[in-house]
Amino acid sequence: MYKAYTRPTHPSAIKTNSDIDFLIVGSGLAGSCTAWKLEQLGLSYRIFNDPNRDAASETAAGFINPITGKWMTKSWQIDQLLPAAKDFYSTLEHKLQCSIYHPLAIRRYFIRATDAVRALRKIKNPRFSPYLKTVLPRGERACAIEDSYGSLIISQGQWVDVPEFLHQLKSYFKKKASLIEGAFDCAQLKPLDPLGQSGWTYRGLKAKRVVFCQGIHSRENPFFKHLNLKPIKGELLTLELPELHLSPGLYHKKHWLQALPNACAEAAGRSHRFRLGASYEEGVSDLTPSSSAKKSLLKSLEAMTDRRPRILEHKVGIRPYTEDAQPLIAQHPQYPSLYVINGLGSKGTASAPYLARQLLQKLGYSD
Ligand SMILES: Cc1cc2nc3c(=O)[nH]c(=O)nc-3n(C[C@H](O)[C@H](O)[C@H](O)COP(=O)(O)OP(=O)(O)OC[C@H]3O[C@@H](n4cnc5c(N)ncnc54)[C@H](O)[C@@H]3O)c2cc1C
Repeated sequence: MYKAYTRPTHPSAIKTNSDIDFLIVGSGLAGSCTAWKLEQLGLSYRIFNDPNRDAASETAAGFINPITGKWMTKSWQIDQLLPAAKDFYSTLEHKLQCSIYHPLAIRRYFIRATDAVRALRKIKNPRFSPYLKTVLPRGERACAIEDSYGSLIISQGQWVDVPEFLHQLKSYFKKKASLIEGAFDCAQLKPLDPLGQSGWTYRGLKAKRVVFCQGIHSRENPFFKHLNLKPIKGELLTLELPELHLSPGLYHKKHWLQALPNACAEAAGRSHRFRLGASYEEGVSDLTPSSSAKKSLLKSLEAMTDRRPRILEHKVGIRPYTEDAQPLIAQHPQYPSLYVINGLGSKGTASAPYLARQLLQKLGYSD
């Protein structure tokens, strides 16, 4: 959804003189996971988040798919990321008594004959076998999706309900008065000594370390401009598809179609809701929903079903990417107490808990 950019009114001074361990800028997936880890470790922190700036996390579909891309490759560090994500989100669910982390059935439909050959080869490879369950020939276990060349069942998929995750943590941090809603102005951040080794002061608040988790907005950060993050615009649609009956899960055929779980709709005999996504436009950072992305998504839908959709919502977000497409934790070359977690790309739900843990372990805090 397009969000107009307005500069927020800013508190001229933060009403506290107490020292804290960490100051975090940004409360998308990266910032929220880092803050929650600090909470678990009993460290003190404050989070600044500007509600008038767009956040990729507000658009994220929330899938963790271990096998992705045209060539069905293993997702980056997935063997480490999956257990870290499970541990992180389950602990959060338990502590906050909420439901965020769900198993996700994934079926990938082949779009050319050679895909089946490749999948059959990969399924025998021990590196892939934990995630590739079955290759189904064309027409087997038929469902409402058009099956041209067969399909692949992918196991260990997960779905993080990101809106619920952000909502739960925002309420928690607000209740603790740890979240300050407003723009963080780097010009007001001053080192307490020439290299910031004793910490930093920001409008009366003293912090030992600062972690910037600003997503694509890091490009405006004078301390970390050199990271050269690049934007990749992504769009997704929420749909109603009358008469399309699919079990909840993810159906992938060039793009993905998620059949959302909706027991109430089923009981009332109404159509299920679906999400269709996501487009991928390199180097583009405007937040306007585009007709070309919509057209391309709907074309993929046509290859899956002949049902006509009713579009309920069209969302846009900007994924932050590094040059090598791998997420990063960076320390400032001159000020060792300034850090960045960024470049989460298309996989923030899996990588954010892992990166937060890695940074804190590097700083000597282990859980
Ligand atoms: C269409 C789409 C679908 C996606 N689907 C998936 C998916 O299925 N699975 C998955 O894992 N990932 C998915 N992603 C990717 C995921 O959204 C990103 O990897 C992730 O959200 C990045 O999180 P972040 O915290 O780094 O950045 P963001 O979520 O962008 O958060 C940055 C925050 O910093 C704040 N901020 C920035 N500058 C300042 C400042 N100066 N002062 C105060 N606050 C500031 C912003 O307000 C914002 O809240 C998708 C992305 C898109 C666009």
